[in-house]
Amino acid sequence: MTRTATTCPYCGVGCGVIASVAEGTLGAVEGDRDHPANFGRLCVKGSALAETLGEHGRLTRPRVDGVEVDWDDALDAVAGRLSATQAEHGRESVAAYLSGQLLTEDYYAANKLFKGFLGTPHLDTNSRLCMASAVAGYKRAFGADAVPCNYEDLEEAELVVLVGSNLAWNHPVLFQRLRTAKQRNPLLRVVVIDPRVTDTCEAADLYLGVRPGSDARLFNGLLAWMDANHRLDRRYLERHAQGLEEALAAAREDDCSIEAIAADCDVDAERLETFFYWFASQLHVVTLYSQGVNQSSSGTDKCNAIINCHLAGGKIGLPGAGPFSITGQPNAMGGREVGGLANQLAAHMDYHTPGAIDRVTRFWTTASLTPSLPAGPGHKAVELFDAIERGEIRALWVMATNPGVSLPDANRVRRILAACPLVIVSDCMANADILQYADIVLPASSWAEKDGTVTNSERRISRQRGLLPPPGEARHDWWIICQVASRLGFGEAFDYAHPGEVFVEHARLSGFENPLDKQAEGARLFDISGLAGLDRAGYDALAPIQWPVNAAAPEGTARLFTDGRFATPDGLARLIAVRPRGPEQALSAARPLRLNSGRVRDQWHTMTRTARAPRLMNHRSEPFIEVHPDDAAQHGLADQQLARLEGAGGDYFGRVRIAHAQRRGEVFVPMHWNDSFSGRARMGGLFAGHTDPVSGQPESKHGAVGLTPLAPGWEATLILAADSDCEPVWRDESIYWAYIPLANSRRWQLAGGEETEAPRDWLAWAKANLPGEPALWAEDVGSGRLRAAGFDSGRLRWWLMVGSPAELPALNWLDERFAEAALDTPLSGDLRRRLLAGCDTGEADAGPTVCSCHQVGRKAIVAAIRGGDDDVEALGARLACGTQCGSCIPELKSLIEEEAAHAGTEQALAHEAV
Ligand code: SF4
Repeated sequence: MTRTATTCPYCGVGCGVIASVAEGTLGAVEGDRDHPANFGRLCVKGSALAETLGEHGRLTRPRVDGVEVDWDDALDAVAGRLSATQAEHGRESVAAYLSGQLLTEDYYAANKLFKGFLGTPHLDTNSRLCMASAVAGYKRAFGADAVPCNYEDLEEAELVVLVGSNLAWNHPVLFQRLRTAKQRNPLLRVVVIDPRVTDTCEAADLYLGVRPGSDARLFNGLLAWMDANHRLDRRYLERHAQGLEEALAAAREDDCSIEAIAADCDVDAERLETFFYWFASQLHVVTLYSQGVNQSSSGTDKCNAIINCHLAGGKIGLPGAGPFSITGQPNAMGGREVGGLANQLAAHMDYHTPGAIDRVTRFWTTASLTPSLPAGPGHKAVELFDAIERGEIRALWVMATNPGVSLPDANRVRRILAACPLVIVSDCMANADILQYADIVLPASSWAEKDGTVTNSERRISRQRGLLPPPGEARHDWWIICQVASRLGFGEAFDYAHPGEVFVEHARLSGFENPLDKQAEGARLFDISGLAGLDRAGYDALAPIQWPVNAAAPEGTARLFTDGRFATPDGLARLIAVRPRGPEQALSAARPLRLNSGRVRDQWHTMTRTARAPRLMNHRSEPFIEVHPDDAAQHGLADQQLARLEGAGGDYFGRVRIAHAQRRGEVFVPMHWNDSFSGRARMGGLFAGHTDPVSGQPESKHGAVGLTPLAPGWEATLILAADSDCEPVWRDESIYWAYIPLANSRRWQLAGGEETEAPRDWLAWAKANLPGEPALWAEDVGSGRLRAAGFDSGRLRWWLMVGSPAELPALNWLDERFAEAALDTPLSGDLRRRLLAGCDTGEADAGPTVCSCHQVGRKAIVAAIRGGDDDVEALGARLACGTQCGSCIPELKSLIEEEAAHAGTEQALAHEAV
């Protein structure tokens, strides 16, 4: 068995993992105790990594025009068609759309090929959807895209402010670090600013449930309050920043009384003032912000409103202080470093950076090409697809992302992809939605196979190490790019034998004509020239390190701006005058509800990987719509009922979750579901495509939607053996379907028909559409409810329940029956009963999953609480819930609180009765 240190491929925390491989199979995955991001911790997604692997569902052969071909033919086709497109339509007629899932080496090679050698600036990335506003905010304030803080700062702070960040679900290991720090230091305060009461609020000393989009108004108000209350750090400002008066003047254009700010932000005035006082009176403040701030049509301004307050209070460049943007994707930062955004050129140089085009031209030796590098920025993500629609871009290479799911106005994006003359897709999964638009499909290697580096949210570069060979003919992205480059005649510039050679070139470019004096001409903060001398062994052994890494900082750099000098020509930071703007998309009578979107705890992106681990599907199995109880009542909706949202560019079907956590007039949907997992649950279709004017980041937090109940004639649960290959005809017959992989079987949640329709003959339907004969059924003809099971040679092949899914038990027992080669026949009365029930009737139903690590259900937890295990530790000791990754601890605490409140009400009622 080999044990290899590598990095988790999911979120921007960038946890180190130790992966054990024996005889070509990945076994246990555990947290790396030596990795400074996580010190051995992992969340449920990271700890389930081994369950998401396997050749099943992988792309393993290249395809051209739907026909499997060998690599030579596929690469010739890519090079030939790109070349022909440019010859006929010009250099800028080809484009690439990349992903924060790619490794830095893949990103570097793609950026170099497209911008350096194909001469097109149109290379952008899905990281545009995640953190482009944070990049723009940092650049405006500091002169460079530079995150000043590190994770330790969360532990060293006196106050941590979480803005637009559900840290407990989206960056769980950081949340665990914060909780632990709070336990060690009771003086550490946490403020959560978010329109939704999320699990993150479990750690909050103060919660501000702001009106969506009012963040800039709130932080402008804070700036003005600090000034009015003599809490500005005038000394710091005089020495290290400029722009205070302009920023204050802009803030004062609105009424800066506490009452007016509180009214605009829709929060309690006293709580707001408490926050202002806490922020202003502590020096060691970290404000951590994420997609709730960035994914907005005014995201850059929001970022700068936050940064302004840190600069104004001198709360930066110190341990436990600074404005800290946390990225969503594992290598969003690496993409930023190589220049993988369309407005960047390379290595933190923009097109307008003095001398940059000439410098990069000389470094890449592209001067012989005419013309060489593009003269200016390319189209950002949303604009890129507009340019395809206009016919200006005629060839698009998509790597490791699903733009038809994740981009706003996603249905329009799909139409654009369908009409684009050439779509090339590199992906690792055979069920990726994007593949249906691909003329050329290139099977790429995946996490366990890839070798390279990623950079996490604290600027820490870590090695991702290959554990297994790629399946079939899948190949690494950097290799594919270099092979295409070679066929285009650029072989010499792409002659890398190993990703380590790509990394070293990237490191050399970062230090090329980059003086250590950061105010000197041409100086860039991003400098990893200290790693440019790595040989293969050094690269393989590279330990996690934070950039800059250069002659002045050979061991890396924990914090930036400690000397108060910024990466601007005069060394001064800039406060930016921010004039708050509301969301672009107006509500209307037809669309009266404000739409918010985000992630769920156990899933990642479009679920192509996380859905392969059945236990990750149990926490939230179906697409849902979170609705405030008052809105649910107004729209005639019950909990768990199906409903439809109608938005700017499409609709969305999901199951209602009534949630007090939601503000009135606002609904929330998850971002993950796509056509592989549900019929109509792509949230990207609901948003209009408004973008931030500075960063180009699209709005994904403020849509306008209408909400209506669905009234299907029937609902059904169909479970099929995992190896059955019958056509899923039920998808076309349903108005709603959701696909939920289980360990040994596949579950389909279905709804269809009209309310007034006569009940369908389900047994006849099963005979016609399912494998194996119905051998067992129980039917209530009057209500149309049915439970049935089909067998083939004694083996359970399908199980069908027609009726409300609220009647479903936990399905673990039933799923295990699908793994049995043959059940004892004839079936005993007891087994018949259990099969019809769908569970072991002798065991209590555990209810919906709360703890995914140990598969502990809600009903079991509630029973334990009622039995006296009324704290997290006692529950962990009895049921093991919350003892592994800790991601469910906030939910456990909520259940404990709910039960305490419930017990209190019961007691009061009993008292009243007496
Ligand atoms: Fe992976 Fe979880 Fe760590 Fe994020 S917090 S890197 S998903 S283990």
